[in-house]
Amino acid sequence: MYDVATNLHKIKDNLPKGVELIAISKYHPKAYIEAAYNEGQRIFGESHVQELQGKVGELPEDIEWHFIGHLQTNKVKYIAPYISMIQSVDSVKLLKEINKQAAKHNRVINVLLELHIAEEETKYGFTLDLCREWLASGELNELQNVHISGLMMMASNTDDEAQVKAEMMAAANFFDEIKAKYFADDAAFKERSWGMSQDYDIALACRSTMIRVGTAIFGPRVY
Ligand SMILES: *Cc1c(COP(=O)(O)O)cnc(C)c1O
Repeated sequence: MYDVATNLHKIKDNLPKGVELIAISKYHPKAYIEAAYNEGQRIFGESHVQELQGKVGELPEDIEWHFIGHLQTNKVKYIAPYISMIQSVDSVKLLKEINKQAAKHNRVINVLLELHIAEEETKYGFTLDLCREWLASGELNELQNVHISGLMMMASNTDDEAQVKAEMMAAANFFDEIKAKYFADDAAFKERSWGMSQDYDIALACRSTMIRVGTAIFGPRVY
């Protein structure tokens, strides 16, 4: 096994105050999660419903699971009873389905709106304009069983640090814009989830509050 404990501490122990580490455990076996858990890590991120379902029942109950992958609406019902946060809300349709399933369990599910800022066409998420448009519609007020806790994004997968930084700063500035306009009275709208193994140091310079790190903790994924 990769030296999970050492890798975890190297990252976690140097994080600025107010920044959470989400350990991305997708494609890694239970034993890796347990190794991180034993070092005090409690928040883990997964991107496939079936894989997550398999892990949840076999791991400690006080783990907070974050969903970070593209989520199909017909699968929301499986994770709605327990998911701690859905970071990858990339459409209004998905948000409405989460609201509906959360209501069935008498829960309010915390979510992040995923922004599409990177240049790659394959990335999911709201464009800034679509996000502005939807917030202006006031439809959010009808969704009593979801709480928008902030924004999530993935920067372009490139060595060009200036580009990565520009994309993350665009997300940070957009956070300020909608915070002021729609969430000024909601102290719990505060999360800026960006930064992965390759770029979390840049993300920290761009006001990230949640870094999502997999490979740098657990090693390369075996697909
Ligand atoms: C897999 C994944 C990560 C972690 O990527 P690493 O490069 O392994 O750190 C972070 N965010 C999302 C959305 C992912 O799918």
